Amino acid sequence: MRLVENIIGAMRGKAGTPIPGGIKPPDYKQATLRSRLMPTPIPRELILPLIQHGSTRTKPLVKPGDKVLKYQTIACSEATGIVDLHAPTSGVIRAIENFAIPSPLNKESMCILLESDGFDAEIDHNAITDYCSLSYLELAKLIEEGAIFGLGGEGYLNRLKLSSGKAVKLLIINAAENEPYITADEALLREKAKLVVLGAKILQAACMAEHCVIAIDSNNTDAIEALEQTQLNCPIELIKVAPKYPTGSEKQLIQTITSKEVPSGKYPADIGILMHNVGTAYAAYQAVVEGKPCISRITTLAGPALQTPKNFETLIGTSVDYLLELCGLNQQDHTMTLMGGSLMGVKLARTDVPILKTTSCIIAASNAEFPPPALEQACIRCGFCADACPVSLLPQQLYLYAKCQYYSELISHGLNDCIECGACAYVCPSNIPLVQYYRASKEEIGNQLKNEMSSAQWKQRFQYHQYRAKKDKEASRESKKRGAVAKTDEAVQSAGSTVQNMLPTFSRESAKKEIAAAVDRVRKRKTRLIASSSDENTESSK
Ligand code: SF4
Ligand code: SF4
Repeated sequence: MRLVENIIGAMRGKAGTPIPGGIKPPDYKQATLRSRLMPTPIPRELILPLIQHGSTRTKPLVKPGDKVLKYQTIACSEATGIVDLHAPTSGVIRAIENFAIPSPLNKESMCILLESDGFDAEIDHNAITDYCSLSYLELAKLIEEGAIFGLGGEGYLNRLKLSSGKAVKLLIINAAENEPYITADEALLREKAKLVVLGAKILQAACMAEHCVIAIDSNNTDAIEALEQTQLNCPIELIKVAPKYPTGSEKQLIQTITSKEVPSGKYPADIGILMHNVGTAYAAYQAVVEGKPCISRITTLAGPALQTPKNFETLIGTSVDYLLELCGLNQQDHTMTLMGGSLMGVKLARTDVPILKTTSCIIAASNAEFPPPALEQACIRCGFCADACPVSLLPQQLYLYAKCQYYSELISHGLNDCIECGACAYVCPSNIPLVQYYRASKEEIGNQLKNEMSSAQWKQRFQYHQYRAKKDKEASRESKKRGAVAKTDEAVQSAGSTVQNMLPTFSRESAKKEIAAAVDRVRKRKTRLIASSSDENTESSK
């Protein structure tokens, strides 16, 4: 613990240790920071995917035609690690069916379609003014009921983070937002710094972290000022980090702040550290103090094809189209829409898709700022990509393995540690879309693993079937054998008794008697014969 204290003490108020590699792309943040953070008007329809995280679906508690109130639970979790789904406004459930969801591949998924009634009528909720009186377990439960995801865009489940069961030495609230277009966290801090700090305290109490810091880019001056005013007499420290992309990524920020590396394949909790986004801290405040589950988030609407780019506090389920219209989308300039930022985001296949709890940014791109990708050239082994990699990987080597589909080499060269930040592709003079190769390889490896797992399961089932068949055969052979032996014994026994019955009863005494009787019969017969012959002789002499 002393190490963490020393590090924090040494860095208090100063820029942290820069990450290896990284890039400094031009900044387009000012366009969205000009206006105040504002709530979006309630759209007529909200599309709420039943799958909120991973691949497990929540179970609907409503049916088409049902009336619901704002904050009402409309789908519940049935599995560990899934949170409930709440109605973002009052209205009528119109359908529960497949709708398009945000994806580069035009995917659909089962969603609840809620038609707003415009009244925004709420259910009663329990506001807790004195959260300090609650135990850490009660706080964690309230946060769980708040259905909060990691709102930084990564979508980690707070409950899982909070209940990892590992001692937490340091809680980091991440406000280091280095994507060139995203300003959602900065806007939130600028306007709700006090509530974010309260949320940070709640998270700290819920995970019993010994220390808590808020890490922020040193050039976010408005947000820093707001935090410094708020944090008077507060034990939470403010740490300013160098504004280099991608310092805000989880492992990179931990390295920057503590000089500790989270080992490959491990989680920050394994080294006693937890990290939450500022949006998550604000949502924790709402869930615990106001008793309101997460039904909205701050999303940056940016890009050159928008006349008035800004940050919105938008309801989950609002259509991207609706938000683009609110910002004055210039259809002629608009060439594509990115979700999640210009470097880490994905190109949306369509824009009639809902805002999710993980949607930090939508960019309406134009050809001027986002020209079509230049022709991919051969790798010239310049090494620029390796210099830019914040994870100290060898991107050119990974690229060659990915091209040749050498998956085991990709894994042994750290593909799983690649955070898909795009820094390597950004500096590549040969215009190689390196991240696309890595993503495709990760997907392929994932599919292969899935297939292997399912074929392993089939193999296991087959082997078990064979084992059962063998056991049954042995058992039947055994029972047959036992049956045969029993029969033989029986047969032998019955045969024995038959033979015994058939055999004459020989004994020495009886034999003697038999012989004596026979001798007596012979003697008597002889006597009779002699007597009869003497009678005949007498007769003839007469
Ligand atoms: S930056 Fe591009 S060209 Fe240079 S080594 Fe990396 S992949 Fe090859
Ligand atoms: S995308 Fe991956 S390989 Fe490229 S710089 Fe980022 S972490 Fe390194």
